[in-house]
Amino acid sequence: MTKYLVDGTILGQRSLSPDIRVMEIKAPEIAKTAEPGQFVTIKTNHLSVPLLRRPFGVAGVDREKGSFLLIYRVVGETTHLMETLKEGDSISILGPLGHGFDRTHKNALLIGGGVGLAPLHFLAADYPGAQVDVLIGARTAKELFWTELFRDKTRRQIETTDDGTWGIKGMVTTPLPELLKEGQYDCVYVCGPSPMMRAVVDIVRPTGIPCQISLEKYMGCGLGACLSCTCSGIGRRVKVCKDGPVFWAGEVTAW
Ligand SMILES: Cc1cc2nc3c(=O)[nH]c(=O)nc-3n(C[C@H](O)[C@H](O)[C@H](O)COP(=O)(O)OP(=O)(O)OC[C@H]3O[C@@H](n4cnc5c(N)ncnc54)[C@H](O)[C@@H]3O)c2cc1C
Repeated sequence: MTKYLVDGTILGQRSLSPDIRVMEIKAPEIAKTAEPGQFVTIKTNHLSVPLLRRPFGVAGVDREKGSFLLIYRVVGETTHLMETLKEGDSISILGPLGHGFDRTHKNALLIGGGVGLAPLHFLAADYPGAQVDVLIGARTAKELFWTELFRDKTRRQIETTDDGTWGIKGMVTTPLPELLKEGQYDCVYVCGPSPMMRAVVDIVRPTGIPCQISLEKYMGCGLGACLSCTCSGIGRRVKVCKDGPVFWAGEVTAW
């Protein structure tokens, strides 16, 4: 698939929580071609930026407007610079990169925690012909803006919070066995912190329901050259940037 290196234009951004932002960027090449699960790498045009571009999952596209969304957590140098950008500023984008989600099922359960919900947000919005439910894991009720983002894209939203301030008290693994017992899902999609994804895969595997995982590994180039994002696959090493970031759960053995 064609990759583009373009200067996108910031159309706007807003805070979803104290440390999470949603940014809309005009970049028609990316907006027209990106598929759910793919990512872009970003470099701001500040002189002080880190040398390496940083990866972010595409969180949604408006193909007519030629824009796409990023939902990002402010954690370090690039994301601190990103949050200072204003409407009309430009930002360097390379993408779309990697392989997206398989979208050939009819009843999908999306499971995400934290900014892992960003690529699932795009999947929920662009899964033709499928019934989509989402299981949202958050630390506390303050992070449940996700429910609003998913409300018009999914049939059902189930929320868990670690501290019990909203939804079911516990982690996404608390309601998951009962949800799977309902027997309606023919594919599970998960993206979030690695321990959460491993726990979900351990619950889903015995049911025989296919499961796709979207991995986050630090990467240098995002193009398959530097090998910094490799992990163990069946009989081979796989590169998260090029072979993924989306894999079938059985394809990777350790991540
Ligand atoms: C395929 C892929 C898709 C991604 N999609 C998204 C996305 O949609 N939204 C998003 O917010 N992030 C996403 N990430 C993670 C994002 O690339 C990193 O958070 C990135 O390092 C931030 O760059 P920075 O320069 O701001 O911070 P850095 O300078 O790289 O990191 C600063 C400090 O924060 C720590 N840190 C970095 N990332 C995290 C993190 N995620 N959680 C906790 N501590 C962290 C580092 O260990 C370091 O100590 C994705 C990563 C991959 C590989």
